[in-house]
Amino acid sequence: MSGGDNLEFEIRPNPAPVGDADRAALLANPGFGRIFTDHMATIRYADGKGWYEPRVEARAPIPMDPASAVLHYAQEIFEGLKAYTLPDGGVAMFRPDANANRFNSSAQRMAMPQLPVETFLRSLHEVIKIDRSWIPEVEDGSLYLRPFAYASEVFLGVRPATEYLYLVIASPVGSYFSGGVKPVNLWVTPDFTRAAPGGTGAAKCGGNYAAGLSAQAEAAEHGCDQVVYLDAIERKYIDELGGMNVFLVLDDGTLVTPPLAGTILPGITRDSVIKLAQRDGRRVEERQVSLDEWREGTASGRVREAFACGTAAVITPIGVVKSESGEFTNGDGGPGEVTMSIRKQLVDIQRGLADDPFGWVH
Ligand code: PMP
Repeated sequence: MSGGDNLEFEIRPNPAPVGDADRAALLANPGFGRIFTDHMATIRYADGKGWYEPRVEARAPIPMDPASAVLHYAQEIFEGLKAYTLPDGGVAMFRPDANANRFNSSAQRMAMPQLPVETFLRSLHEVIKIDRSWIPEVEDGSLYLRPFAYASEVFLGVRPATEYLYLVIASPVGSYFSGGVKPVNLWVTPDFTRAAPGGTGAAKCGGNYAAGLSAQAEAAEHGCDQVVYLDAIERKYIDELGGMNVFLVLDDGTLVTPPLAGTILPGITRDSVIKLAQRDGRRVEERQVSLDEWREGTASGRVREAFACGTAAVITPIGVVKSESGEFTNGDGGPGEVTMSIRKQLVDIQRGLADDPFGWVH
């Protein structure tokens, strides 16, 4: 561990925050990832010194030397989670401790220092507290929190940096499905893979996403919303989407999802779906699923529904899956019954409208 327990943040309020009327105008239609709050949290790190100078300060550009290691060797990791208003007026986050732990797994994989879970959580609390007025009132609106860290040391050479900067920024976001839940169409990329065994697939590092942009563009050319990646060895089994995990719903109600074997991101929504389904007595199989099994299953009726899941959209039905060898449709192409019932269960827990059996809402 690298010190940094029980850090007290120094709070330096933004001397020129956005005015109430301007903020209200921005929050009326926030979109996703376009607008940002008045503040950010920062913590510095140096070898030998550990984590130091925890601050909440005005959100501003970060001065950066052209030889900052991250710009050359991409030592960078991030997380994403939401804060939202509960019916009683309180503000909640969903399983932020799981994000803290995943952040540290990513740090380990990328040879970066870990941040104590308490300090990670504290940094989120401080940003929410000072920028609470930025949580949109629109239905399903939330404050998207983006904790991240990168190699800030100024040097050229391939080795772990000795200095890092950790930050939290926040972006108000509107409802993901403003016109109601809409199925996504997927493109199975024949050209690109996302992660190989021993690679960085299970880490949330920027490089994984840069490497996926060409595949995403290919999906768009085929009229699809998202890419499906197949395993890098046999090009046969489903891994995940560009930014979501995948589940199939079988005719007997069983859920099937690819296993956490190092090549997919261990989604917190994925884990929550598994725990909720198992609690309700539903069978869940974490195992390899081939594209052939999926395609044939939709034809035979064995596969009834499919959905994708992740923080941004929670649960999204999968409609059509297109590949070089043709396309197939899940169910009738619309949102499936099991998908929508799991979605409602999860959203109700998140929003404080149902009991929270696992203590997920902080
Ligand atoms: N896979 C990838 C590649 C992702 O970027 C995300 C979004 N973080 C997910 C899956 C879903 O993870 P979570 O449920 O934790 O948002």
